[in-house]
Amino acid sequence: MKRRYEGFAVGIDLGTTYSCVGVWQDQQSRVEIIHNDQGNKTTPSFVAFTENQRLIGDVAHNQASTNPQNTIFDAKRLIGRKFSDAVVQKDIMLWPFKVIPGVNDKPIIIVNYKGEEKQLSAEEISSMVLTKMRETAEAYLESPVKNAVITVPAYFSDAQRKATIDAGTIAGLNVMWIINEPTAAALAYGLDKRSNCDAERNICVFDLGGGTFDVSLLTIKDKVFQVRATAGNTHLGGMDFDNRMVDYFVKEFKKKNKVDITGNPKALRRLRAACERAKRTLSFAVDTTIEVDALFQGIDFCFSISRVRFENINMELFEECMETVDKCLNDAKMTKSSIHDVVLVGGCSRIPKVQQLLQDYFNGKDLCKSINPDEAVACGAAVQAALLSEGGIKNVPNLVLMDVTPLSLGIATGIDVMNVVIPRNTNIPIKKTKRYSTPKDNAVRVSINVYEGERARVGDNNLLGSFWLSGFPRAPRGHPLDVCFGIDENGIITVSAEEKTTGNKNRITITNDKERMSSEEIKRLIQEAEKYQAEDKKYLSKVSAMIALDDYVYSTRHTLKKKDIYSKLSSQEKEKINSAIEKARNLLDDDYQQEEDVFVDCLEDLKSIFEPIIAKSG
Ligand code: ADP
Ligand code: MG
Repeated sequence: MKRRYEGFAVGIDLGTTYSCVGVWQDQQSRVEIIHNDQGNKTTPSFVAFTENQRLIGDVAHNQASTNPQNTIFDAKRLIGRKFSDAVVQKDIMLWPFKVIPGVNDKPIIIVNYKGEEKQLSAEEISSMVLTKMRETAEAYLESPVKNAVITVPAYFSDAQRKATIDAGTIAGLNVMWIINEPTAAALAYGLDKRSNCDAERNICVFDLGGGTFDVSLLTIKDKVFQVRATAGNTHLGGMDFDNRMVDYFVKEFKKKNKVDITGNPKALRRLRAACERAKRTLSFAVDTTIEVDALFQGIDFCFSISRVRFENINMELFEECMETVDKCLNDAKMTKSSIHDVVLVGGCSRIPKVQQLLQDYFNGKDLCKSINPDEAVACGAAVQAALLSEGGIKNVPNLVLMDVTPLSLGIATGIDVMNVVIPRNTNIPIKKTKRYSTPKDNAVRVSINVYEGERARVGDNNLLGSFWLSGFPRAPRGHPLDVCFGIDENGIITVSAEEKTTGNKNRITITNDKERMSSEEIKRLIQEAEKYQAEDKKYLSKVSAMIALDDYVYSTRHTLKKKDIYSKLSSQEKEKINSAIEKARNLLDDDYQQEEDVFVDCLEDLKSIFEPIIAKSG
């Protein structure tokens, strides 16, 4: 494998709900998952905007319930999608923030930042999360970080993958590789067990996260990872378990107190946060109590819930997960018994019932839990980053990662039916030709429409591009034409069509350029990102000046009192001090209205008044 990248290279798991960053440590021969400034190894993928500042990660997550309209999460659900996409429309109903259609039907997020309306794309929000992850790594490595491998769900379309690359670019990163999350997890896992890889080994990766669910089947042979099949649900995960708990408790609360909280978003959000905590606890404890003070109309919420109850509430969803595993095995034409390892990934894979159902499905097989489920994906991404970097990884010379098509690719020639040419999960690079026929008598030209997706009707799939093949000889319908699909190692799709008797040919390369941001747009957004950074820095520096002033007022008051200096001062001096302190207090009470230098000047003034007095009083 070519190793082209110099300097530090990190692996970033850009999750729907949580993100995680890791770096390969050559000396220890392992990946270090890097904790953020709050000491946490995963960072909420949240960005918030307030009157005064922009917040990213834990701080944004913590203030979400008091600033719902301006706290953005789930950007990953929007990235690379159209506003009119049914999935987007459904999600919008659940979000407290506003999303509107922009140019080219691109979804635009509206926030209020410093009293002004701002329009942001999903790429920008994701770039802010990626910036936070980059800075987390930079703080730990004490060095700038440029290169990164970023993970995406297996079902991500071409447009979603490319939009993720754009987000990385805006965050000032050089995106070396986009890797499927389950593949990354398996890579982390396979590396741990590399000595076992001589024989062929089949692995099932089960990733149940905060909002998405992925199953992947992989085969490792001679240190080569091959993805055999993937399946998943874009809308199944921890949040759904939390929501079911909320629904349950809303009913219980109504039964007990005769009040309905469904119309009160704030009460619902507080209850949801409490339920999420309870869900985590129930992975370790058999029961727990949920308490929320004055949840609604001054009524306290206090209920206990057992693990069994939690399981019953969510059983349907857990069973759906197992059905997806079954579907994935069928897709890959593999049997349960051919799976050597079942790997758990994602925060919700910690739920005991999920583990038990999965174990039962695999006829009692032991599950692999040796990799921390929150960190496995970032860990694999960090391994891949190191492999692509200068020097690579010692002792692992031939590790190659093979990629697959995440969605089926096919064509429609007139009628609303998807003709699959390359089924999903096909290894790339690949070239495949299929014979079709003209749909009408005496057709002189045929339009070839290229789609990606799993639905039977092309109307329900994603149109990637279309072209005409013309110059047909006069013939009844059913005249043959050959369509050839090619996908290169970078995932670039080329479709060509040929009419054999005349040798007429035409082709199209799917670049998804329409969906992607132009280089000018990216340049503008990079500048914008720098502006946000500068504003954040300026704000933090102002806050330090405010704290310094506040500290000085406090400590001087204390000194005056302690040494009983104040009572010995002349009334003129007293007045001077009092008015100086009042001025400072007023400035500080005025919150964040003033600029930094006002606070700095005020501190200087105070010092010039206090210091001589203190010196005099010795
Ligand atoms: P993502 O979907 O962003 O990849 P993660 O894999 O980190 O996110 O999963 C986040 C989800 O895992 C959240 O819904 C969180 O509540 C849940 N979670 C975290 N820890 C536990 C636990 N101990 N038990 C059950 N669920 C958990
Ligand atoms: Mg994840």
